[in-house]
Amino acid sequence: MIRFLDLPGQYQSLRPEIDTAIQSVIETGAFIGGEGLKRFEQAFAEYQAVEHCVGVANGTDALEIAFEGLGLAPGSEVIVPANSFVASSEAVTRAGLKVVFADIGERTYLLDPADVERRITDKTSAIVAVHLYGQPAPMEELIAIADRHGLKIIEDCAQAHGASIGGRTVGNFGSIGTFSFYPGKNLGAYGDAGAMVTNDAALAKHCRMIANHGRVEKYNHEFEGRNSRMDGLQAAVLSVKLTKLDDWIDARNAVARVYSRELEGVGDVVTPQVRPDVRHAYHLYVIRTSRRDALKKHLADASIQSGIHYPIALPRLRAYADHPQHEEAFVASEQAPTLLSLPIGEHMGEEDALQVVAAVRDFFRG
Ligand SMILES: *Cc1c(COP(=O)(O)O)cnc(C)c1O
Repeated sequence: MIRFLDLPGQYQSLRPEIDTAIQSVIETGAFIGGEGLKRFEQAFAEYQAVEHCVGVANGTDALEIAFEGLGLAPGSEVIVPANSFVASSEAVTRAGLKVVFADIGERTYLLDPADVERRITDKTSAIVAVHLYGQPAPMEELIAIADRHGLKIIEDCAQAHGASIGGRTVGNFGSIGTFSFYPGKNLGAYGDAGAMVTNDAALAKHCRMIANHGRVEKYNHEFEGRNSRMDGLQAAVLSVKLTKLDDWIDARNAVARVYSRELEGVGDVVTPQVRPDVRHAYHLYVIRTSRRDALKKHLADASIQSGIHYPIALPRLRAYADHPQHEEAFVASEQAPTLLSLPIGEHMGEEDALQVVAAVRDFFRG
């Protein structure tokens, strides 16, 4: 069996360290905030090479709080890629802003800068650059566009911990970057958790206050915020896992190299295009084929798990039935029925990747 994700196996490989870390939180009673959270925030800021990290309850809250913290004009338009997890657009609406979808590159699945620029109006206030599947979005082009039009950039780094462009880590390009530590992400907690990173001290402080009831100190509240804090148990687990993340990303890249080398030209498979000079975090390895559903079944019959990210492009979701772009023709909507995510992760070796390749080849021969 080749699993899509193997969290129990990962736990076994880290068991003594994780158990000690969890026990120490329980013994000291530092369930919310505390030294353990501070240590994780510092370690993660260092890992992402940013000055400030604010831990929150999940990646969706991180986005919402980032929009609020930036003080974008109420009702202004925010450009979001048409292919992403729904949180990327949902948080825009929740923050009182308007979602405008832009299309993606045909083989990168990342925002297409030319299409972004076409969508800009005098109401546009920001762009959400999603580093989808773990690959950094084309930040150089997006920053040039944002500068020309006076827009903010929010980086949705939920799938891209440790990814970089020319050695510069994601979260360093826009005003603020947001992360998710949902269990299945490359760096995952044992429950929900998220973070914001930024090099802007005032913005970090403001976001931290929003996430903690707008408070300056206990029972002294400067404004109404909300409750979105990372708990101590999650911070403890994440601190242990963070020390392994680079090795895990390398392992993901090793699997991806096998797929990209061996699957090119097999049947009508289209392998993902990696942009020059990036470190891809390979949260997902997504191929395209016109026979997606049949291939998925063939793999399942060979005990190989696969996934679909995402089956419906954002504008086509029922949630956007009343959105002006619901029916619009996007590359993202056209591609959605052909996308297939092959298993990838540190639980796999090159032998496993070759086994997946063999099953894909077998399907297209048969
Ligand atoms: C997972 C994810 C989020 C949301 O994170 P949660 O922690 O689940 O709230 C946001 N954006 C993208 C691209 C994601 O993959």
